[in-house]
Amino acid sequence: MAAKVLVIGGGPGGYVAAVRAAQLGGEVTVVEKENVGGTCLNWGCIPSKIMKTSAELLEKIHQAQGFGLAVTGEAKPDMERLMARKASVINTQIKGIEGLLKHHKIKLMKGEGIIDGPGKASVRGADGSTAAVDFDRLILAMGSTPMNIPAFPFDGDRILSSNHILAITEVPQSILIVGGGVIGCEFACILSALGAKVTVVEALDRLLPLPSVDADCSKVLQREMKKRKIDIHVNRTVAAVAKTEAGVSVTIGPSPFAADLKEKEKVPFQVEAQKVLVSIGRSPATSGVGLEKIGLTLNAKGWIPADDHMRTNVSGVYAIGDILGPEKVMLAHAASAEGLVAAENAMGGDKTMDYRVIPGAIFTMPEVGTVGLSEAQAIEMGIDARGDSVLYRAIGKAQVIDELAGQAKIVSEKGTGRVLGVHLIGAHATDLVAEGALAVQNGLTVAQIAGTIHAHPTLAEIMSETAMKAMDRALHG
Ligand code: FAD
Repeated sequence: MAAKVLVIGGGPGGYVAAVRAAQLGGEVTVVEKENVGGTCLNWGCIPSKIMKTSAELLEKIHQAQGFGLAVTGEAKPDMERLMARKASVINTQIKGIEGLLKHHKIKLMKGEGIIDGPGKASVRGADGSTAAVDFDRLILAMGSTPMNIPAFPFDGDRILSSNHILAITEVPQSILIVGGGVIGCEFACILSALGAKVTVVEALDRLLPLPSVDADCSKVLQREMKKRKIDIHVNRTVAAVAKTEAGVSVTIGPSPFAADLKEKEKVPFQVEAQKVLVSIGRSPATSGVGLEKIGLTLNAKGWIPADDHMRTNVSGVYAIGDILGPEKVMLAHAASAEGLVAAENAMGGDKTMDYRVIPGAIFTMPEVGTVGLSEAQAIEMGIDARGDSVLYRAIGKAQVIDELAGQAKIVSEKGTGRVLGVHLIGAHATDLVAEGALAVQNGLTVAQIAGTIHAHPTLAEIMSETAMKAMDRALHG
């Protein structure tokens, strides 16, 4: 008899795991309480990039004259149409995933998945109805939700989460963003391009303060965001948010993480804004699922620990995606890759998740694409490494499209030339990083990138140019 595989959560982790388990002969059920596609499709990657596409286009229209185009009339955001386009793209994708599940004979049950005990679960529908499901293997893929700050909780009006921002009906005149990580910086750029006055407050000493993001990318991003007139306060935290008639009055104080602030930098100050966006992280979607009924243990912060086979502490129960928390990688393509591993293992395989080469795509303006080790990480690991950078402005295509800001950096091992990491900031960096991922994953050398003829004129030439520089043979850079 086919193994019964139950997947709770139909995001990029869950639905991919379901398809793979079905391909391997499992009798698969997916339980989803909202729409398939999860945060990624409904509240994350896709809607935010739809907003970014419009923001970028608006910016280009404003630059039309410089490209020799006379544009008359005022170009401005039409949020109603923008949101209608967002809904239309999302709906198409939802139908696509539902079709995929059907094609693989996977049963999709709409409702909240609740574990009742070993091998037993139920699905509570929105109408209060309950249906039982039994399982031999369980894959947990419930994802995460925006993290609330109890001192100034989300109210959907003035204090917003990323979910709220993705549903705005008008662009706020001004907004203060708490958190200069990936989501905070992406929305800072989008909202600024759409016309909002944006302030970003980050507790650490740089924007995108992630070990995987090379410090040079943060530096260039901070400079470019400042050029966009975005106010940036690093080494600061938001101490309080008071609601005022016009919006909010935000008290910004020193960060507990900043060790060596000068006296005057420690003095709190106020910023007035119409809205606040809180983007300081995510919370695990584990409550009310009944995990305790099968003896599944969570870590101190409520995330589910899993090994590289995606196994939890309970035999036959796997966990994937955001629900594993920030100790793993909270990205859609990481969730899908983990989903494939979990499905294979649930169906009797022995697969391991490889966390070494997961590219990061950050849709700021300009974009950031990063994979492998940063220069700092390589040095910390004691590798005899070098970092070589080439500016976008050295590349013909960057001049053609007038996207001069940014650079590519290749981190390579001295002597062998093995590519350890690639860190790009600039136009289309999120696409260009794919070549870096191929190189790092396959242990390629800078000589192999440099020896690959890159078409002209393309932004991809920055990769061969940077590789040549890493061989002390730069042509243009
Ligand atoms: P989710 O996508 O969160 O899916 C979990 C699903 O489980 C949800 O649909 C939820 O409704 C369902 N669920 C939860 N509990 C239950 C239950 N008890 N019963 C039934 N169903 C349940 N990542 C990228 O790689 N690139 C990006 O550009 C990017 N942009 C982002 C932008 C924003 C604003 C945000 C918030 C996130 C972004 N991410 C991005 C992160 C990405 O969305 C997540 O890493 C990814 O969605 C995680 O997938 P998942 O399947 O683990 O969980």
